[in-house]
Amino acid sequence: MTVKTDVKTYLNYVNGAWVPSQGSVTEPSLNPADKRQIVGYVQKSGAEDLEQAVAAAKKGQRAWRKLAAPVRGEYLYKVANALEKRLDEIAETMTREMGKTLPEARGETARGIAILRYYAGEGMRKVGDVIPSTDSEGLMFTTRAPLGVVGVITPWNFPVAIPIWKIAPALVYGNVVVFKPAQETAVTAAKIIECFDEAGLPPGVINMVTGPGSVIGQGIIDHPDINGITFTGSDTVGKRVGQGALARGAKYQLEMGGKNPVIVADDADLDLAVEATISGGLRSTGQKCTATSRVFIQSGVYDAFKEKLLAKIVQLTIGDGMQDGIWMGPCASESQLKTVLSYIEKGKAEGATLIHGGRRLTENGLEQGFFVEPTVFENVTSDMTIAQEEIFGPVLALIKVDTLEQAIELANDVRYGLSASIFTQNIGNILSFIGDIEAGLVRVNAESAGVELQAPFGGMKQSSSHSREQGQAAIEFFTSIKTVFIKA
Ligand code: NAP
Ligand code: MG
Repeated sequence: MTVKTDVKTYLNYVNGAWVPSQGSVTEPSLNPADKRQIVGYVQKSGAEDLEQAVAAAKKGQRAWRKLAAPVRGEYLYKVANALEKRLDEIAETMTREMGKTLPEARGETARGIAILRYYAGEGMRKVGDVIPSTDSEGLMFTTRAPLGVVGVITPWNFPVAIPIWKIAPALVYGNVVVFKPAQETAVTAAKIIECFDEAGLPPGVINMVTGPGSVIGQGIIDHPDINGITFTGSDTVGKRVGQGALARGAKYQLEMGGKNPVIVADDADLDLAVEATISGGLRSTGQKCTATSRVFIQSGVYDAFKEKLLAKIVQLTIGDGMQDGIWMGPCASESQLKTVLSYIEKGKAEGATLIHGGRRLTENGLEQGFFVEPTVFENVTSDMTIAQEEIFGPVLALIKVDTLEQAIELANDVRYGLSASIFTQNIGNILSFIGDIEAGLVRVNAESAGVELQAPFGGMKQSSSHSREQGQAAIEFFTSIKTVFIKA
């Protein structure tokens, strides 16, 4: 049975207007806490729809680039205000569409507003340097040029923050955007674009086309008129984006997976470490790229840490994230649930010891949703699948180590390098960790998840294309430097 009451159909946004896909093909976006609930119908667009969006963007680009950057920034302030007015409604949509709890969804939406204001302000800040010329009558300086049309491809796990942390800098630096959100969260995406629409941006400056990644995403990769692609998602798709963009000479930026470690040293504040491991590993049902996945614990505190961890985990409340008092919601989709359960089975089959959770939850009204228990394994070795691959679910692997050197060596023994944290009071430990850990985000006495919008964000190794997003780092991707020499 499908419950269908007042379910709205969301359209594409092309050239400043809401338009159906050619053929008006739609598909439902479901609530992962109760799959009978349809959050909205979204367009399942095709290649022609993308074509129109790219053409509109191309047409709008010159006028947008010619606007003064502070004026472009003014538009972003208006978008921020529009989003602020709808914070509660959009957060609720996010919770219903992908399952994270309402407080988390509110926090993310507030962050989206802050990102918009940050980049609105960027429209007022310097974009170049004066460099002394060897010619005493010359003036040499740098300025910045936008890329042109930028394709934005985003995942479902931060359906407000990630699109905004790409779209806002793209626009303020003078680019125009063709946005393809994850189909899983296309209703939330449409509501974000409604805020851009309300701000009255000129037609063609921002366009959104929803539909399958294999069609719309791939179309962005291949389109000769798209000058840059910024992507966040899995490393499998990310590599396709990078290869496709490189092949036709487009600029690209990839933010991909993580397998993030936390190290708990013998002298750690154990309560703090436990709290951070739970928050970093299990909030958002483990579906953060910066989520804690592997926990390396020095042998002297292993048993105490484990005991405290399990005592806290049993207290977590799991259910529909719309309800008060719920700490952890469902996996975002059925396929995500299946992936998580299959990793749990692999963990057991490869010899890890399951010490908590491991089951799908179907009791007490959860049977229509994609709920899984918070899960903890021990006796995990570095060669096991659950120690190597990103699970993107609420699964922690505990690994006992004798020394800090061993912990860092094992922590680095993965192809990812997004974030990493350590709990210790010892300054020597802290400095070794900062120096030796292979991660783009290094956290000391703080959880592995949690980043600030004004600071550079990105990973090492196969977590990223080695570029950085957010803060002032964003200008490096969204513009090219022009070095200018003027002779009087
Ligand atoms: P995904 O499957 O790679 O999808 C990401 C986006 O790419 C979606 O919009 C998807 O569209 C699209 N896509 C799919 N196939 C494509 C193709 N052939 N060509 C172009 N685009 C295509 O990732 P996800 O499952 O949504 O998100 C989870 C992943 O994101 C995890 O690996 C996580 O670590 C990563 N992530 C990384 C960061 C970071 O900043 N490092 C942040 C958050 C998440 P459809 O899904 O609509 O088909
Ligand atoms: Mg959904």
